[in-house]
Amino acid sequence: MNNSEMNQRRLSATPRGVGVMCDFYAARAENATLWDIEDRAFTDFAAGIAVLNTGHRHPKIVAAIKAQLDLFTHTAYQIVPYGNYVTLAEKLNAIVPVAGPVKSTLFSTGAEAVENAVKIARAYTNRPGIITFGGAFHGRTLLTLALTGKVAPYKLGFGPLPGQIFHARYPNALHGVSVEQAIQSIDSLFHTDIPADQVAAILFEPIQGEGGFNVAPPEFIIALRKLCDQHGILLIADEVQSGFARTGKMFAMEYCPQVKVDLITLAKSLGGGIPISAVAGRAEVMDAPAPGGLGGTYAGNPLAVASALAVLAVIEEEQLCARARRLGAHLMETLDKARVSCPAISAVRGQGSMVAVEFADPATGEPDPVFTKKIQRQALEQGLLLLTCGVHYNVIRFLYPLTIPDDQFTAALDLLSRLLKS
Ligand code: PMP
Repeated sequence: MNNSEMNQRRLSATPRGVGVMCDFYAARAENATLWDIEDRAFTDFAAGIAVLNTGHRHPKIVAAIKAQLDLFTHTAYQIVPYGNYVTLAEKLNAIVPVAGPVKSTLFSTGAEAVENAVKIARAYTNRPGIITFGGAFHGRTLLTLALTGKVAPYKLGFGPLPGQIFHARYPNALHGVSVEQAIQSIDSLFHTDIPADQVAAILFEPIQGEGGFNVAPPEFIIALRKLCDQHGILLIADEVQSGFARTGKMFAMEYCPQVKVDLITLAKSLGGGIPISAVAGRAEVMDAPAPGGLGGTYAGNPLAVASALAVLAVIEEEQLCARARRLGAHLMETLDKARVSCPAISAVRGQGSMVAVEFADPATGEPDPVFTKKIQRQALEQGLLLLTCGVHYNVIRFLYPLTIPDDQFTAALDLLSRLLKS
């Protein structure tokens, strides 16, 4: 079976709604390299959309999953509990940017974690409203779709969406939204859409992922906390994409250490490739839903929990936060240098290894998704898998495994420099 034959089968067997970026099929993968079914090798800077901070098939993670496979694979934690679930909760409680005491509960996907964070916030506050931001991405289930701040392609044809969800503006200096304007937009919602005392939570990404790797300035996060405290609103950080060493800290919130959130949602790189997600938060808030109100058949699956425990150990043992900072600095420097010969680069930004480059037409300053796509396509043709993001599809984001070998990383950056120059 080759890629072209597989593509034919895919088109008739699966719906077009599941858009697929690559026209080749994965056969195997190791750390930062992925081989397709025609045995072509790719350097994987997509990492399954930010899931593989610890790389493909890290030996310690594979060993932990295999060991669990030999014991049991499923009991449903709510029926017959297992100790590793509690151990993982304890470990998360100890590291999340929440003022203690903290409790955690596990789910399977990012969207599920976000949905449950909203349920917990509503149960605790007895209020319905949720404020999120333009450009936000929180998932594809109906509730998280309503929370997501982008219409096409996510929301098209799927309405009506759940109500009591309102979008404020996310600060973005490059596109003319100041921190003051962003905070002002929340204040406006209190006048035009929902009184502050009916808002359960403000949900935000400390660094917007799908929205373009937009970094929230600390002043913004501090102002959000203040606003929440004034009105009895909970502050929820969605660190599904930014978590687990990607930003050079365990969580992006650590760049604003003076602010603690009430709840945090985690997923993606927590599982190292096995689906697992979590909501962690202030114990008092987490205990608001009544027994039976939270959970799910697969929530906190034993294989995924074993994988997550190994992920946390690997991040610490291999000092991946420090490595994320070092690799990210190298990448930022490369992109900054490329600006001299590539006037289409309108911004280079990020934190640690959560780095992005944005492209605009140098003549008009308008976002340039065509140029962005061209760089992505040329990189792919030469064996480098890159992802785009951004509300205008004009941003390339970098999500390489933090365990990538130095020589492979340097080779990928050399290729990128060449492409940007030409
Ligand atoms: N929140 C954020 C910040 C995300 O980036 C994503 C996925 N891109 C989600 C939530 C949803 O996660 P999942 O696809 O696992 O449901």
